[in-house]
Amino acid sequence: MYSLGIESTADDFSVGIVSSDGEVLANIIDAYKSESGGIHPREAARHHADVAGKVIQRAFIEAGVTPKDIDIIAFSQGPGLGPCLRTGATAARALASYLNVPLVGVNHCVAHIEIGKLINRAEDPVTLYVSGGNTIVSAFEAGRYRIFGETLDIAVGNCLDVFAREAGLKMEEGKPPGRIVEEYASRGERYISLPYLVKGMDLSFSGLLTAAINLLREGRYKLEDVCFSFQEVAFSMLAEVTERALAHTEKTEVLLTGGVAANKRLQEMIRLIAEEHNARFCKVPKEYALDNGAMIAWTGILSYKCNITTPISKSYVKLKWRLDEVDVPWVEGEC
Ligand code: AMP
Ligand code: MG
Repeated sequence: MYSLGIESTADDFSVGIVSSDGEVLANIIDAYKSESGGIHPREAARHHADVAGKVIQRAFIEAGVTPKDIDIIAFSQGPGLGPCLRTGATAARALASYLNVPLVGVNHCVAHIEIGKLINRAEDPVTLYVSGGNTIVSAFEAGRYRIFGETLDIAVGNCLDVFAREAGLKMEEGKPPGRIVEEYASRGERYISLPYLVKGMDLSFSGLLTAAINLLREGRYKLEDVCFSFQEVAFSMLAEVTERALAHTEKTEVLLTGGVAANKRLQEMIRLIAEEHNARFCKVPKEYALDNGAMIAWTGILSYKCNITTPISKSYVKLKWRLDEVDVPWVEGEC
């Protein structure tokens, strides 16, 4: 059985084709870029509409299958930016009705966890999912991926992106802003104290962002040192909450995923806490850690096997669809 998955929650439009035994046959990603570096939802949606046909076609060519071979169409139903989600959903509905196959609406955050588990052959990890739009520490318990900790304001990826822009870091084509901060940070030496905000199990990044920008405006510190300190504080906060979730659940795997998971310093910190608790550290390669269609296609298969499909009348997008609202019956092998 083959599933075609469409991802369009934010800046990326992506199409993946995956088989029911977990083989990824295609995973094509086309990212929207703006001059300012931010995401304008309607412009990103226009980008998605412009490239959709081409990306779907490329996925078929790469996978070596024809539309007739596809058994289900899966799409990112939320959470995400309304205009972007609606563009992906429209393409998915059109394909499903044209091919006369079931449609499966997938939760984007669940999909990040499922593809990470598939790639690492992990069974039951604590997951730290860090991206441009999400910052979540979660683990499976009683039928759902429960949220142990999350951001109370902005996502850590967004925090890095805004910082990079405000700090005027020199951007390079093809490199995400977080990666540029990482490069500057690797040349930093001096630690400067910045606001560290963990409230219970939740995190807050907006105070750190403001303080770091103010520090730069003072002009007393080297850019490299501010980037270094900024990363140390933001990532230590993430490590603290992940470690507490691990100690509490006593799980034996830690999965790090999302766009920010590409960061070497963050990987190092999470690897250390995993080792400390005798847990296996599971890393996700970039093409499956970033927003991608393969994760949607794969989660579509897991859902479909449990008889979860989405009738067209219920295929409206859910902008604030939380991870812990989704039943995941396949995790305990019920289907
Ligand atoms: P996503 O939302 O999953 O597509 O991921 C995009 C986010 O990942 C953006 O905020 C990027 O700046 C961030 N990102 C990508 N590479 C790195 C890196 N090496 N270090 C930190 N953040 C990164
Ligand atoms: Mg993205």
